[in-house]
Amino acid sequence: MGLIICIGCQHQVNVTPVKRRRYKCNNCGCVEVIIIRRPKIWMEIADKAGLPVEEATHLVYAGLKWEAERRGYKPKWVDMKFLRLFGRKPNGEAVEGPQPPSQHLVKWFGKERAAYAKERRKLDEVRSGGAKKGTDFNANAAEPDRRYWSGFEGWVD
Ligand SMILES: [Zn+2]
Repeated sequence: MGLIICIGCQHQVNVTPVKRRRYKCNNCGCVEVIIIRRPKIWMEIADKAGLPVEEATHLVYAGLKWEAERRGYKPKWVDMKFLRLFGRKPNGEAVEGPQPPSQHLVKWFGKERAAYAKERRKLDEVRSGGAKKGTDFNANAAEPDRRYWSGFEGWVD
């Protein structure tokens, strides 16, 4: 069994088995979830309803803003991440000021940063004369996977 937790509204569902596929929250429509394959003994594993949709999207926006300010990202980063999560641009959420994000959102930020760093390392290898032997990336092959780049255009580093 596993737990699927929506990072948008905290909607939590027990799933058996956890399939290798994308999940979309049927409460708030968020497409990024945290999957816990082996819940720890202290975790609450009962199904939980999510926050009301409007509250969830406003809180996520506030959390994105908080992260952007803390790390010095451009404001555009907030809108792009929001679009990524909910498939639409912020509409009314932008009135929110920054607020500390939920623990699940924090976890997702970490995953996003790791993915970005990995992509950047690949491109650095290409620029410095090709991939090392034994890596799964071939400098002569097609373009590197740019999925993550498209989500990070607003990055300031
Ligand atoms: Zn949700």
